[in-house]
Amino acid sequence: MSGKCFACSSAFGFFKKEHGCKNCGFAFCSSCLPHKEPVPKHNNQRLPVCINCHLILTGYVYIYMYIYVYVCLI
Ligand SMILES: [Zn+2]
Ligand SMILES: [Zn+2]
Repeated sequence: MSGKCFACSSAFGFFKKEHGCKNCGFAFCSSCLPHKEPVPKHNNQRLPVCINCHLILTGYVYIYMYIYVYVCLI
């Protein structure tokens, strides 16, 4: 364990607790886990995820829509 937040690099300690992103598994501080999203790995339970995973998880719908449109155009 490095003991640092993966996003803002602040060291974990008594005041800054370490939290894991439930999607990617990296360590983040609580201020870098502002979003709760349904995580497919955890039966779509709403769990704290990092900003990257928030974008990935909320972007899924758009990716599928894009593929669907693309397939229909061929
Ligand atoms: Zn942080
Ligand atoms: Zn993540």
